[in-house]
Parts: sequence; structure tokens; C-alpha cells
Amino acid sequence: MRLMNTLMAGLAVTLLAAAPAMAQDKGTVGIAMPTKSSARWIDDGNNMVKQFQAEGFQADLQYAEDDIPNQLSQVENMVTKGVNALVIASIDGTTLSNVLANAAAAEIPVIAYDRLIRDTPNVDYYATFDNFQVGVLQAQSLVDGMKQRFPDAKPFNVELFGGSPDDNNAYFFYNGAMSVLQPMIDSGDIKIVSGQMGMDKVGTLRWDGSVAQARMDNLLSANYTGDQKVNGVLSPYDGLSIGIISSLKGVGYGSGDLQMPIITGQDSEVPSVKAILRGDQYSTIFKDTRELAKVTVGMVEAVLNGKKPEVNDTTTYNNGVKVVPSYLLKPVLVTKDNWKQVLVDSGYYKEDQIQ
Ligand code: BGC
Repeated sequence: MRLMNTLMAGLAVTLLAAAPAMAQDKGTVGIAMPTKSSARWIDDGNNMVKQFQAEGFQADLQYAEDDIPNQLSQVENMVTKGVNALVIASIDGTTLSNVLANAAAAEIPVIAYDRLIRDTPNVDYYATFDNFQVGVLQAQSLVDGMKQRFPDAKPFNVELFGGSPDDNNAYFFYNGAMSVLQPMIDSGDIKIVSGQMGMDKVGTLRWDGSVAQARMDNLLSANYTGDQKVNGVLSPYDGLSIGIISSLKGVGYGSGDLQMPIITGQDSEVPSVKAILRGDQYSTIFKDTRELAKVTVGMVEAVLNGKKPEVNDTTTYNNGVKVVPSYLLKPVLVTKDNWKQVLVDSGYYKEDQIQ
């Protein structure tokens, strides 16, 4: 027994000596993310956990696999556990009002992450990218690409895809894109051959690539039977672009004389950057999730210290109840001409992940 005691005492001393100086414990942040089915959200989650921990917070990171009740119960549990702050990238931005009323009653501050949380007064700040500008960049690259690849096309034959109608961002992407495309549609330089326009017609529920693929199949079989060929497809997200590309390849685009249309995207996900290098996709958008995490961590720190976080937009994001003070980061267009500089030189990807 004495030997045992001596051993235990020795072990305790060793453990104490080995314990690193504990970072200051500033409490726990609940982080609710929509899905792991897209790499960007995995990066978002990891970046935030790393940065919150570096600042002395603990992080409770949860993914809801695009299931709304699942996300609701995750956030409810975080509120019940008494987290010190909530960071939420919502699946459906309109479904959180009740749970956020509970968070407010418990004085838990809430940051909307990337996607605006709608229909509630109980969201304090919004960290995101300039979502309208994302759409502008997508449409400008669509037009530039079509001018290069199809210099003789008059008009350019285009089809439009939108994001998920329950995601506020989807409207900003679409409206940003249409600010570039509508004048060209009006002047006859672009023809939407199917005639399908407006988020109610072109939206893609839950950003699902297979839904986009099925819609593209239908668009092709209903509208492009004769000599008419597609010159461009506005796609707001890489995961949709993959489905759209499969559909186009299925009817022969990208082989023989039938050139791939210009197809846009968003998020710079690895398979899509590879598709850009192969020439299947024309462009994507880079959103540096490290920077978004940094802004978010800064907001949480400030709010918990009773300070006002830095914001750079106090007019754009009305959530139906109030304008949520926001910090907008700049999205960057990526093509085969600048992918290395934007994605590799910045340290976001290693070159061998891409090629
Ligand atoms: C994000 C995009 C993403 C999309 C699908 C949007 O809310 O802002 O970056 O492509 O969701 O996940």
C-alpha cells in the first residue's frame, strides 16, 4: 500500500509537471454548422475551433447534415448547457426564432455566421462576405468566359441556377448576378432559352447537386433539341456546378466539336478547382474561411467584454425584424489564370491537393 501511495504521489507530480500552462478559460462557444457534405463548412468549423481555442475559449462544434429539426435541437441543447455565446450558420434562416428567444432569455449573444438568421430580433451581429458582390463576380466571369469561348454567338444562350430559397444568401447571389445579366437580356445579347428566371423558378432546395443535375437534364431535353446549344450556365455553388457539368457531359458537351458552356461556381472546393484546370468549369469564388473565423471570434470576444465589435455594414442585412450590423469580407474570383496565386500562395491549399 505504501508503495502504491508513493507511486500515486509520483504520478501526480509528473502529471502536474507535464500539464501545459492552461490557456485562460473564457467559457464555451456553441458553433452550429449546416452540413459536412460540403468541404467549405468543414473548413469553417475547424478554423473557428482552432481560433476560439487559441483565444482561450472552448468550442462545442455541431453539424446538422442539412436537417432543420436536427439543427434546432443542437442549438437548444447548447442553450440548455449554458454556452457563453452562439455562432450559427443556419440551414433555414427562418426557423430559429423560438430557440433564439430562449437564448436571449439566458442572455446568450448570437452571431449569424455566413448566412443571415431571419425573422427574429435575437441575433446580435452578422459575419459574412459581400454576397451581392459574389453574384456580380459570377455573372461577370460568365460573360467574360462566353465572349472568349463563343465570340460568334449572338445572342449567348444561357440558363440560370439559384441557391436554396431558404438561404437568404441565395437571393443576394442571384440579385448580384442579375444586376450584370438583366441589362444584357434586355438588350438581346443574352437569351435565357428556357425562359426560366426568378428565384421561384431557378432556386435549388438545400443546395443539392442532384437536384441541379435533374433540372439541367430537363432544361436540355426540353429546350436544346435542335441546333441551339448552351453557351453559359450561371451556377451559384460548386456542388451544383458538378451536377450541371455531369448533365451536360451526358449529352455530349465537352467532346468532339461540342464545347463545354461557361459554368460558374462558388467556394473553391477541391474537386471544382480540378474541374477548372480540366476546363469543365470556368470559375469559382474564393471565400477565405480563415478570415471569416477571425472576424467571428473577434465579434464574440468584443460582445462578451461588453464592447462593440467592428462592423462595416449597417444598412444591407434586414432580417425582417431589424437590420443586423454586419462585417462583410471580400469574395475573390478564381479562374485557371489565378488559382495558384489565390489558393496556394495564400496557404489555403497545398499545390499537391489540386494537381
Ligand atoms: C454560402 C455559400 C455556399 C452555399 C452552399 C451559402 O450560404 O454563402 O458559400 O456555397 O451556402 O453551401
